[in-house]
Amino acid sequence: MKRIRRYQALFAGSILFAAAVLAFAQPAHVADAIITNAKVYTLDVQHPWAQAVAIADSKIASVGEDAQIEKLRGPGTKVIDAAGHLVLPGFVDCHIHFLDGSLSLGRVNLEGAKDAADIQQRLREYAARHPGKDWVLGRGWNYAMFGLEALPHKKLALAGITNETPDPANGAIVRDPKTHEATGALKESAQELVARVVPRPSRNEKLAALRAGIKWANEHGLTRVHSAGGDFEQLDLYDQLRREGQQTLRFYIAYFLNPPNLRPQDLDTIESARKKYRDDWIDTNAVKMMVDGVVESHTAAMLEPYSDDPSTKGKLFWDPAKYTAAVAELDKRGLQLFTHAIGDYGVRTALDAYQRAEEVNQTRDRRPRIEHIETITAADIPRFGQLGVIASMQPLHSYPDADTLDVWARNAGPDRASRAWAWKSISNDGGHLAFGSDWPVVTLNPWEGVQTAVTRQTAEGKPDAGFAPEQRLTVEETVRGYTLGAAYAGRREKTEGSIEPGKLADLIIVSQNIFAIEPHRLAETKVLTTIVGGRVVYQAPAK
Ligand SMILES: [Zn+2]
Repeated sequence: MKRIRRYQALFAGSILFAAAVLAFAQPAHVADAIITNAKVYTLDVQHPWAQAVAIADSKIASVGEDAQIEKLRGPGTKVIDAAGHLVLPGFVDCHIHFLDGSLSLGRVNLEGAKDAADIQQRLREYAARHPGKDWVLGRGWNYAMFGLEALPHKKLALAGITNETPDPANGAIVRDPKTHEATGALKESAQELVARVVPRPSRNEKLAALRAGIKWANEHGLTRVHSAGGDFEQLDLYDQLRREGQQTLRFYIAYFLNPPNLRPQDLDTIESARKKYRDDWIDTNAVKMMVDGVVESHTAAMLEPYSDDPSTKGKLFWDPAKYTAAVAELDKRGLQLFTHAIGDYGVRTALDAYQRAEEVNQTRDRRPRIEHIETITAADIPRFGQLGVIASMQPLHSYPDADTLDVWARNAGPDRASRAWAWKSISNDGGHLAFGSDWPVVTLNPWEGVQTAVTRQTAEGKPDAGFAPEQRLTVEETVRGYTLGAAYAGRREKTEGSIEPGKLADLIIVSQNIFAIEPHRLAETKVLTTIVGGRVVYQAPAK
């Protein structure tokens, strides 16, 4: 189509004539761009490897040997010489909070901080570099940074939190056990108490953050993200970026449904959005719900008490009957469900509700998803395959550092920890895997996730035997979780997720052949080129 438009400019006023001339003047399938001299891993089972790819009209036109693809080269064809590098389908992040992540790019980065003193040092440096800022917001801290029993401690007068402030529903204000004084740590919904007094970013600040976030995602090889909350309210911002030609990342954005009920106004909001946004760039046909919290703060719902605190099993955020009813109603409308479930009881509750929805609606190809699945009972593992439920998991969350081994595994206990992030078992029993990051909880860089899924060890190779090492995946299985598996999880495997003729031309060229290197080097992978819809949207600076 691009070619025809160029002709229209030359022969203004005689469009039909121009089109007719074009048909005779050019071979039938001249490519807009070709990638040659590459190692192309296609994920097409019939032809897993190729040398070259031709792109036309934002789609993949042909995949094959260099000589064959060269024939599609015309005078205007852009030629990308991959210099022998690996080409993969564009990566998809199946669980992200995109606006939050984008805003976090402007905050103090606490990732990898060793302890509280290190955090304080980073905060001081940031404050010195940003003298006009009233608020210093950090990101990327974890529980282990403050020692096993501790959490950060500070005063909260501005947020109006006092010793008398009650805990909100599904949240907790952490208090000193002796004085009952609020320490400054807030769990789950209690974070709202501070969030509401932090100055809200303006529309222009959000747009600027999103542009930076999109660029950041493209630089790491992402061509689509599945937003799991926080972005639905901002759909007009995404729409504006698209109208301005700045959207170089595809978005699948779920509506976040809060307990206790599915209300008519939720349905109105969902229905009007999905009439407007349902194409290759912005799709909104999904609803996210959270049935529980996280293991670290004992808010994930477990079937048996926590190992380190037998007084609690966590609790469900939803009344199971109301959650099940909401799932059935949304499923009946053809909406895809994403349920955050981390504890084994949370996971079981979601599986039960999905099974019920299938029984009452008799629907086919529903592909409901469970997000996170950090623990699961052995009996529930085969239900993913049986019920067609997608396991949407975040490999880097299982990274076995002190936060995971000393806090997470201590709380869960050895039995549950033996089935931690059990993607291999779920996959062996026929379940579909889809991978993501949960950015800004951890980096959106998928290559760190790839390494963790393959090694189940830290960058230093700890623990020696790996963390629940029988859950290790091959590089091929892991790549599938970020590409074709991810496309399936977003109901787009017919048009995305592999390098096959007719699919959207979303591709990446990377710095090393990840199938032929030592697994502890996978995270070093750099993206050289990112192509979305046939257009180069990121090019690494030449060395
Ligand atoms: Zn999340």
